[in-house]
Amino acid sequence: MIDFSLEPELIQLRESVWKYAVENIIPIQEKIQLELDAKEEFAWPIWEKFKEFGLLGFPFPEEYGGQGASALATTVAWEALGLAGVDGGMVMSLSAHTILCGVPLMTYGTEEQKRKYLTRLATGEMIGCFALTEPHGGSDSIHLKTIAVKKGDRWILNGSKIFITNAPIGDLFLVLATTDKSLGSAGITAFLVEKNFKGFYVSRKLEKMGNRLSPTGEIVFEDCEVPEENVLGEVNMGFIQVVRTIFGWERSVMLSPSVGSLELVIKGLTAYANQRQAFGKPISYFQAIQKKIVDMKVTLEVARSYLYRVAWHIDRGELPFVEASSFKLFWGDAVVNHIYEAIQILGGYGYMREFKLEKGYRDVRLITIGGGTSEVQRTIIARAILGLSGREIE
Ligand SMILES: Cc1cc2nc3c(=O)[nH]c(=O)nc-3n(C[C@H](O)[C@H](O)[C@H](O)COP(=O)(O)OP(=O)(O)OC[C@H]3O[C@@H](n4cnc5c(N)ncnc54)[C@H](O)[C@@H]3O)c2cc1C
Repeated sequence: MIDFSLEPELIQLRESVWKYAVENIIPIQEKIQLELDAKEEFAWPIWEKFKEFGLLGFPFPEEYGGQGASALATTVAWEALGLAGVDGGMVMSLSAHTILCGVPLMTYGTEEQKRKYLTRLATGEMIGCFALTEPHGGSDSIHLKTIAVKKGDRWILNGSKIFITNAPIGDLFLVLATTDKSLGSAGITAFLVEKNFKGFYVSRKLEKMGNRLSPTGEIVFEDCEVPEENVLGEVNMGFIQVVRTIFGWERSVMLSPSVGSLELVIKGLTAYANQRQAFGKPISYFQAIQKKIVDMKVTLEVARSYLYRVAWHIDRGELPFVEASSFKLFWGDAVVNHIYEAIQILGGYGYMREFKLEKGYRDVRLITIGGGTSEVQRTIIARAILGLSGREIE
């Protein structure tokens, strides 16, 4: 039997996260968002509010300071943040911390690593980052130039990583490096690198089009010394661990705030279209306007169902690799197009900063790029459908 309803606890969770965000985050955000967006600065007061509600360790087990939330519960909570209108960049930073850094750590970490690091991510004492992408190319993520060589009881890392979310404010970096070049994706290891480790530094902060409250940077390893107890999981299994955890979460759960955002945008557009007059009647009477809003609503419902399904697969311990890619491909192209059209409905006001749709457009534009481009998702799906074997993509 198929049951499409959300459990009452999840409905309650969505309600409580939404209410908390509307009452505690949005009033602060209203005062600082546009200024911080212009200056490209992180909103610490909003981060404090994430901390206060327990969002920083939301999916972590309770024994490590988390809330023990499932992938579906995290999806519902993150979606509620989007529906409340919480800044896209801040939620991106939250996801890089909690999901990209935290989920592999809670899945593959030793007891000691989880006590040392997961608990501190949950309290906000440390800010987490995930570092896979390199300057020579992010799509080809198995040919990493960052190399790790074992020397006594340490690993020595050399190389660099780019576009790393939270890097300028990060304390803990989950870093992927090649440990056996001859093995390709089966020769990559994950390391937990602290910002104070010798030979590690943030070389620069990058300026971005959108998500500007979320700091992004480039990091460098120059004979960076990492103790052997900071290998996450098994040596040479780092990329496989990423495929089994991050790729699923990143291409579904992490996108849920934008699903909530589209719902919020539709609400705003509906009110606007009924009130704004042209040629003596509300613009909602024009079929051209109706089509745009109806298409958004249909996309929203389809996307939400598919998103919940991918999260449900994750919670069953399955590997919804192709399903997550399919969701990301569908959603990325759709939401960028819908926010473009939302600006159109507002006319000149849509182009003004104070109406925030131009910011929304700059923010969602990332979805077809970050976490694997649309082209890469299409290739992954094609390989699955056509039964092509070999490397993940090429
Ligand atoms: C704001 C932001 C935040 C990010 N945060 C992180 C982070 O925290 N950690 C992290 O590790 N990375 C992060 N990334 C990196 C992101 O995942 C990469 O940008 C992305 O994977 C694409 O890699 P690339 O930019 O090097 O593009 P490239 O790989 O150089 O691709 C260039 C173009 O070629 C296309 N292309 C490449 N290969 C193929 C192929 N096989 N078939 C068809 N087309 C192809 C791509 O689709 C794209 O259009 C972030 C990026 C941004 C912009």
